[in-house]
Amino acid sequence: MAEVRTVTNLAATVTTVTSSDAPAIGVLALQGGFHEHMVMLSKLGAKVTEVRQVQDLDAKLDGLVVPGGESTTMGHLAERLGLLEPLRAFVASGRPVMGTCAGLIFLANEVLGQKEGGQELVGGLDVSVQRNFFGSQVDSFETTLSATFAPGLAIPAVFIRAPVITRKGAKVEVLSQLDVKSVGLVSDTAQLPVAVQQGSLLGIAFHPELTEDDGWHRHFVSMVKTAMPMPIPVASGAKKASPAKKQRTRK
Ligand code: GLN
Repeated sequence: MAEVRTVTNLAATVTTVTSSDAPAIGVLALQGGFHEHMVMLSKLGAKVTEVRQVQDLDAKLDGLVVPGGESTTMGHLAERLGLLEPLRAFVASGRPVMGTCAGLIFLANEVLGQKEGGQELVGGLDVSVQRNFFGSQVDSFETTLSATFAPGLAIPAVFIRAPVITRKGAKVEVLSQLDVKSVGLVSDTAQLPVAVQQGSLLGIAFHPELTEDDGWHRHFVSMVKTAMPMPIPVASGAKKASPAKKQRTRK
């Protein structure tokens, strides 16, 4: 199994980004590993904010990240805070959303292996996922994976009580697969999908934010930038915008 240097940047601070054209990315911060995502995204030039209540999910966000943690707990909290419908509306708006591990589970249309009593889902991503797929055999492990957007590269991946994708709809593209044998498992399927994309939705079974490789976050930020609305051009007749007038004022 490949060696991956797991890092937690919990102690690192989030970079303050002020540029007006920087993408604004919210990170669902109800529980789980939201801070590490915020550090990584801010280093890539995104303006990041914590999403803890409905008003944090406002129209000014260009993208959203749902972190890893515990999907049943995340569902309970989101329900209690009245966030489920607003989160579903965000997904439906077409603005990019990235879910990692529990975040992928939360975005899935179907979840196998739920706790007794079931769990609330945001849904939208047309996949079925199996929770805690790797069971007690290899609960947590590190490996490297290739991704379709970075051919030839071995990207580190940390799996922590991770799900896998067991079914995918026609519009879902597999970006990364895990070679089952490489992690010492026996399965009917030699390759398991562990990262998928369906239009604006990116679902990742592992924790890219716990490595030093920002490849997945770069991919997500580029999805966000592509989906951002074009700035509204200033009308040519607008008085304030006239450069000639500005120059005269300066003299
Ligand atoms: N097993 C957890 C769940 O079902 C996910 C684990 C994780 O996010 N690292 O929610």
